[in-house]
Amino acid sequence: MTPEEIENAVAAGMPQTIEDLKALVAIPSIAFPGHPEEPVHKAAELTENLLRSAGLPRVERIDLDGGFPAVYGEAPAPPGAPTVLLYAHYDVQPPGDPALWKTPPFEPTVIDGALYGRGAADDKSGVITHVAALRALQGRWPVGIKVIIEGEEEYAGESLARFIESSPDLVRADAIVVADVGNPRVGEPALTTSLRGMAAFTVEVRTLAGAVHSGAFGGAAPDALAALMRMLTTLHDENGDVAVPGLPRGTFPGEAYSEEEFRATAGVLDGVSLVGTGSLADRLWASYAITVTGLDVPSVAQAVNAVQAVARARVTIRVPPSGDPAQAIEVVTEHLKKVAPWGAHVTFSDFTTGAGFRARGEGRARAAVERAMARAFGRPPREVGQGGSIPLVAALARQFPEAEILLFGPEDDHASIHAPNERVDLEELRRTITTEALFLAEYAKG
Ligand SMILES: [Zn+2]
Repeated sequence: MTPEEIENAVAAGMPQTIEDLKALVAIPSIAFPGHPEEPVHKAAELTENLLRSAGLPRVERIDLDGGFPAVYGEAPAPPGAPTVLLYAHYDVQPPGDPALWKTPPFEPTVIDGALYGRGAADDKSGVITHVAALRALQGRWPVGIKVIIEGEEEYAGESLARFIESSPDLVRADAIVVADVGNPRVGEPALTTSLRGMAAFTVEVRTLAGAVHSGAFGGAAPDALAALMRMLTTLHDENGDVAVPGLPRGTFPGEAYSEEEFRATAGVLDGVSLVGTGSLADRLWASYAITVTGLDVPSVAQAVNAVQAVARARVTIRVPPSGDPAQAIEVVTEHLKKVAPWGAHVTFSDFTTGAGFRARGEGRARAAVERAMARAFGRPPREVGQGGSIPLVAALARQFPEAEILLFGPEDDHASIHAPNERVDLEELRRTITTEALFLAEYAKG
């Protein structure tokens, strides 16, 4: 097919594509414990039917041990052609407070060229991108196609990663497209080439056998909560930069956002400054960030006049792709031990780590997707990073070190993923589908 034929096929298919996306968004496929399981299975079933409608000769559901099913599709490679694996997920985040939504989260609604609803962007737009790109090719597969759509990404289930480890041949490919990201701005194409990893642990501080009266003992009794607060404030310097020795700052090629844009997207209040120094791209994509994400201390409502004997904090570290999450935990916990005042007893527990990702700069697939994107958007893509992690990407990179992993998708930075009023811009969706379909054809050419 010529590029024009592909573009026209995608455009002609858009009304059906939008209807199918709406049907998928209408299903509350929340794979978190405490939510009904039946809609998750229903979304898997619809995903399976959608892949069948794209004409793939082999489509099946894969039951994963201890998890929701993944949906798999395949078309064999023409002789000598490479194989591409397409990834997305059909599960969604819980909607949160329905009062914050302008339209009901599971009643997909088009307003001003965007489809609103939970999962409209993250990541049912990714599912539909694959389906629509494959449909546009009308069964004339330029490369081998493999599709894997999972159902427990948001819940951070690990059954798919385990499955890939145990059955690598099923998903083995020369290039992998992860359609679970997007462009910083609608209409401005970007390839996500770097993901931060993450590490987290719980720190516990003990100073007394038990809490004691703050009148009788306060002033001399060592307060575990005060000790913990002193320790935590040493994690950053007065500018808000990470101040733990041994966590070097990195640099990212190219810009992220303007400060204005970042303030608006993050919802920073008037008069409140950002933290850290250096470019936003360096801070968000190439450097460590440490956040205290929880504290076990008496709540204000439960407060009594007592000096605390024990206090706990959950500490999360975002790790640049060049860093090692396990080593970051070692460095930060050593630091906290060192700065603990008054000989307080400090222990650490509940460690978790996830690796980051850095894409290789060149390769046949990378060149092909850059050509495809430039055509679909009318301008060449730039490189961006992402501050968050996608654990499966690290798992794929580990399992298939030779494969080129490409991250792009229709979830622009204003899509409000994981937030109320999530939406996908439908023109952005069309351009992304066009990119993917053109890429599959371009990649075949070499
Ligand atoms: Zn996602």
